[in-house]
Amino acid sequence: MLAAMPPTSPTPVNRDEAPPRAAVRKSVRERGDACPGALRLHAADDGRLARLRLPAGLLTPRQAEALADAAERLGDGHLDLTSRGNVQLRGLGQSCGAELAERLYKAGLLPSETHERVRNIVASPLAGLDELPSADVQLWARELDGLLCASARAAALSGRFLFALDDGRGDVAALGADVTLLARRDGSVVVRTGANRSGLRVTPENAPRAALLAAETFLTLAEASGSGAWRVRELPAEHGRGLEAAVRAGLADAGIATEYVAEASEPEPGPGSEPGSGAGSGAGSEASKPDPEGEPPLPGPVLSPDGTVALSVHARLGRLSVAQWRLLATAANGPLRVTPWRGVIVPGVAPAAAGAVLDRLRTAGLITNPGSPWHGVGACTGRPGCAKALADVRSDAAAAVSRGSGGLPVYWSGCARRCGHPQGRWVDVVATGEGRYDISVQGDARSITTTTGPELELKPELELELADAVAAARTTPLTR
Ligand code: SF4
Repeated sequence: MLAAMPPTSPTPVNRDEAPPRAAVRKSVRERGDACPGALRLHAADDGRLARLRLPAGLLTPRQAEALADAAERLGDGHLDLTSRGNVQLRGLGQSCGAELAERLYKAGLLPSETHERVRNIVASPLAGLDELPSADVQLWARELDGLLCASARAAALSGRFLFALDDGRGDVAALGADVTLLARRDGSVVVRTGANRSGLRVTPENAPRAALLAAETFLTLAEASGSGAWRVRELPAEHGRGLEAAVRAGLADAGIATEYVAEASEPEPGPGSEPGSGAGSGAGSEASKPDPEGEPPLPGPVLSPDGTVALSVHARLGRLSVAQWRLLATAANGPLRVTPWRGVIVPGVAPAAAGAVLDRLRTAGLITNPGSPWHGVGACTGRPGCAKALADVRSDAAAAVSRGSGGLPVYWSGCARRCGHPQGRWVDVVATGEGRYDISVQGDARSITTTTGPELELKPELELELADAVAAARTTPLTR
C-alpha cells in the first residue's frame, strides 16, 4: 500500500492579481494530460511505459539497483534517460503496475501517489562537484520536492510543468523551464517564470517556497484564463503578462521580500543590494550583464573539491542496459545524478581508480569522452516502440554515427512531435515518411548554410548521403 504525504494548506496565492476569467475561451487542449508516470503507465507498441520522476536527477546506489531490478524483471532490461533527468522503463507487462509501484515505494522513489508526475525538477548536475562556486541546488531540490508533495494545489500541475534550479552556471536555466531559480554571484537567487528574462530576487532560504508559489500562481492564472494551459508559455498573452506581478504580490502576501531584477542583469554586490533586503532599488539601478551560458557536463572526469573525482558519462541515444546501469551504481560513492542531457554523474571516485573505472565504462559502451562519435547524438523511441513513428530512427541514427562527430547536437525524431528534443541550437532530423527525412537547424532564428535540400531520400545506396548531410549540418558555420 502506498502512502501519500499528507496535504497541507496551499501557499496563499494572490487571486486579486489574476485577470478576470474569460467568458468564453477556446482551450489549448482537446484532451487531458496523459503524460505518463510511475503509476499512470502509457500503453506503447512495445508494452507499457513508466516514467519515474527524479528531482535533481538524484538517486542512491540502492535506489539505482532497485530500478535495475524492476527493468530486468518487469521491463525490457533497459533504462531510458529523458531530457528532464528522469528515467523511463519500457516493455512492461500489462499487469505489472502494482508490483512496479510497490518496488518503487519500497525504494523511496514514490513519496507521493498524488504528486508523482509533477515532481519535474532539474538542477545543475555538477553543482558542488567541480571547481565552480555554486549554490546548493540539491538542497533546494529536496525542499521544493517536499513542498510540492505537501501542496494539494500543486497536484493540479501538468506532468509537463518543469522547475529548473541553476547554481549560477547557466546550464539548466537554458532548458526552457516554467519556473527557474537562478543563483547569482551576490548570493541571491532570481525567480523567473517562463521565458521571462526578468525576475524577482529572493534569498536562497526562500527560493524553494518562491518556486512553489510561482507554480501555484500559474495554476490560478491558467484556470482564470480558461485556456487549459499546462505550461507558462501556453498562457494567453494577457494572462502571461500578469504572471510576474501576480507572483510578486503572492510572495509579498507570504512574507517573502523580493526585488525586481531587469532582464539579463546581475547586480554587483554592494550597499542596497542585499539579497532579499526588499530595498527595491529598481530595475534601472543595476548594470546589465548577460546571463551565464554554462555548457552541459561533457563526458569525462571532473575533479571535485573534496579531492575525489566525479565521472560524467553519457548514454548512447539515451538508453542504458541494466548491466551498464549497474556498473554506474557500483562505481558511485554517493548518489548518482541523472542529467537532462541523458547522462549520469558518478560522484566520489578515488582519483587513483578513476582512469580504470572510466575505461570499464567505455568498454561497456558508455560515452566517456567528448570525442566519441556518439556524443551529441540523440533519438526518440521511433519504430517499433512508438505507433506514431514513421521510421526506425534509432537504427538510422546509429548507422549515421560513424560518418562524423562534433558540432551541434543532432536529434532524430520518428515524427514531427519531436519528443525529447534538445534545447538551444540543434540539428533536427525528422522522418517524414518511409525512409524520408527532413534536416534543418532548430532553436535559433539565424540561418545556416547546409549542403542538403530540405528533404532526403533514405534508401540503402543513399544511406551514406544522409549520414554525410547530417554531419554537414552539425558542422556548417553560421552565415552570420
Ligand atoms: S517523436 Fe513521434 S515517433 Fe518519436 S517518440 Fe515522439 S511520437 Fe513517437
